[in-house]
Amino acid sequence: MGSRSEELLALKNRYVSPAFFHVTPVVIERAQYPATLYDVDGRRYIDFAAGIGVMNVGHQHPEVLEAAREQMERCTHLGFHLVLYEPYLRLAEALDRIFPRPAAGASPGANPIHTKSIFVNSGAEAVENAIKIARAATGREYIIAFTGAFHGRTYAALQATGKTKPSRFPFLASLPPHIVHAPYPYLYRAPVRFASEEEASAFYLAQVEHLLDTVVAPERVAAVLIEPVQGEGGFIVPPRGFMQGLRQLCDQHGILLISDEVQTGFGRTGYWFGIEYHGVVPDLIATAKALGAGWPLGGVTGKAEVMDRVPPWALGSTFGGHPVACAAALKAIEVIERDGLLMRARWLGERIATRFRAWQERFPFIGDVRGVGAMQAFEVVRSHKDRKPDPDRVNRIMEECYRRGLIMIKAGLYGNVVRTLVPLTITEAELEEGLSILEAALECVAEGG
Ligand code: PLP
Repeated sequence: MGSRSEELLALKNRYVSPAFFHVTPVVIERAQYPATLYDVDGRRYIDFAAGIGVMNVGHQHPEVLEAAREQMERCTHLGFHLVLYEPYLRLAEALDRIFPRPAAGASPGANPIHTKSIFVNSGAEAVENAIKIARAATGREYIIAFTGAFHGRTYAALQATGKTKPSRFPFLASLPPHIVHAPYPYLYRAPVRFASEEEASAFYLAQVEHLLDTVVAPERVAAVLIEPVQGEGGFIVPPRGFMQGLRQLCDQHGILLISDEVQTGFGRTGYWFGIEYHGVVPDLIATAKALGAGWPLGGVTGKAEVMDRVPPWALGSTFGGHPVACAAALKAIEVIERDGLLMRARWLGERIATRFRAWQERFPFIGDVRGVGAMQAFEVVRSHKDRKPDPDRVNRIMEECYRRGLIMIKAGLYGNVVRTLVPLTITEAELEEGLSILEAALECVAEGG
C-alpha cells in the first residue's frame, strides 16, 4: 500500500466508527469513465462494484456530469415542499413512462397504468415510504417480507430485512412490529430438491399461504415487499412462476405488491426493473442507487390509485428529490434508453456467466452460478457436494482482487457469494482485464487451499 493510502487509512481508523464498515483499504482519488478508478497513490483499479450498483451508466459520464453542472449553476437546493422545479416533475414523468407494464399494453398510449412518484434520498427511505404508502392506502398494518432480504438500515426497512447479523440484531428489541417473514425461494439451499421450478414455486407460495393461515390474516396485510432478485442476499433468483403466483395471491386478498428495485433497477437485470423479468406488474416500486447515477436519490413510484390514497402533507423530505440529483437521474435515464444499456446488460451478463460457469468446472469451491442480466454471482463452498459456505475463502478472493487492481464485492446470507455489479457501460477491455484479475485471484486461493 502506498504512503498516502496508509496516511488516510490511519485517519479512518482514528476518526471513523468501525460500525461504518468498508471492505477494502483502498482510498480512491478519482474515477475515469466508465469503469476505472485511481487511488491516492496513483494505482489503477477496474471497478466491478459500481459504487454498490449505483454507477450503471459509468463513472464520470460526461453528459450526466454536464446535466448536473448546468443544474448547479441554475440553483442547488430549493425544497420541493416550498417551491416546485422542473427536474423533479420531469423525473416523475419519466418514471411513469418506464414503470413495469403488462406486455400487451406496452405500446405508448394504449396503457391503462398511470403512476405517481415521490422522491427521497436513499433506498432505505424509499422502502420506508413504500411501507407507509401501503399502510395508508389499505388501512392495514402488516407487511410480509422475505428471509434473506435486505431493505435498508432505518427501523422499518431494518425490520423487513430478513437477516439477523450484523445489521438487525443489535437493534431488535426496539424495532416496530407488524412485519413478518416468509421463506424466500433459495433453491440452492432449499430443504428439498425440487423436480422443476414450477414445483419449487408451488412449495414456496404454499409457505406464504401458510403464513396467512397461521400468523397474520390476509385482511390485516397491507403489502408483500420483495426483491425480484435478492441483492445483498446473494443474487438469488426466484423460480419461474413464483412472482406471478405472489401477484395472484395479493390480488385475491387485496394486498399490494411492492417491488424493491433499489439494486435491480435501471437496467441492471437487462430490464428497466427486475420484476419485469418475471412478467409481473407491481403496485409500488422502491428505487434508489442507480436512479441518481451518483447523487443520493431514492423514490417510490406506484399506481396513481394507490398513491392518491395517502392524504396531502403525509409524506415529505427536506432534501428529497434534490434538483441536482433529479437532473442527473433524468439524463441517466435518457442515456440508458438511447445507448441500449438494457440489451448491453444482458450481453454483459452472458459474458460474465460464461466465464463463471467455466470456472465452476475448474474450481471445486465454486458452487452455484446464478443471476439475471448484469447481476451475476457465484457461491463459494467447501465442495460441490456438501455446499457448505466458505466465507473465509471469499475474503481471500476479495483481498487478492484488490491487491491486483480490481474492486469486487461480496454478498450472501453467509458472506460466501462473489457478485458483479459492473457499470453497464464498461468497455470490453476493462471487462476482460477485470475477469482476468478475478481468475488470477481464484487460482491464487485455489493453490493456497
Ligand atoms: N433495498 C435493497 C434491495 C438494497 O440492496 C439496499 C442497499 O443495498 C437498500 C434497499 C438500502 O439502500 P440504501 O443503502 O440506499 O439505504
